[in-house]
Amino acid sequence: MDINKDLIFNLLEQVPDPEVPALSIMDLGIVRDVEFNHELITIVITPTYTGCPAMDMIAVNIKAVLQENGIEAKIKSVLSPAWTTDWMTENGKKKLKEFGIAPPVSSTVDKLSLLEEEKLVCCPICDSNDTKMISQFGSTACKSLYKCNDCLEAFDYFKCH
Ligand SMILES: [Zn+2]
Repeated sequence: MDINKDLIFNLLEQVPDPEVPALSIMDLGIVRDVEFNHELITIVITPTYTGCPAMDMIAVNIKAVLQENGIEAKIKSVLSPAWTTDWMTENGKKKLKEFGIAPPVSSTVDKLSLLEEEKLVCCPICDSNDTKMISQFGSTACKSLYKCNDCLEAFDYFKCH
């Protein structure tokens, strides 16, 4: 088997985000590079949230998927430049919404709206902009809990960085 970047990227499509299993780590955009140094393969990832316990799980899952395919790899975390939600693929944002989580508003918009009271978060269920944050923390620390004033459903919002 010829091991190249494309093959590895394809295999990494099978590694789910532990927090949102509907998304792969490729959708999240946290896989930065694959380095080849003789026999040694290193997967370079950038954690979405520093100290997020899910990151350890991601490293374990990456190794497991590669091992199943006979590939031994090391994982290297690179913290800088920091991951932003802009790295999430359009497909990833779509899957997030289908999963019932409001996708992140682009970080530029996010920075602008820091001046305003609340962010404009679109309800993933009915697409209404009339939503309200109920809690800083949703089902995990990486999400906030919102409620829609139109369909009255509560939903998670994937926080921006
Ligand atoms: Zn709604």
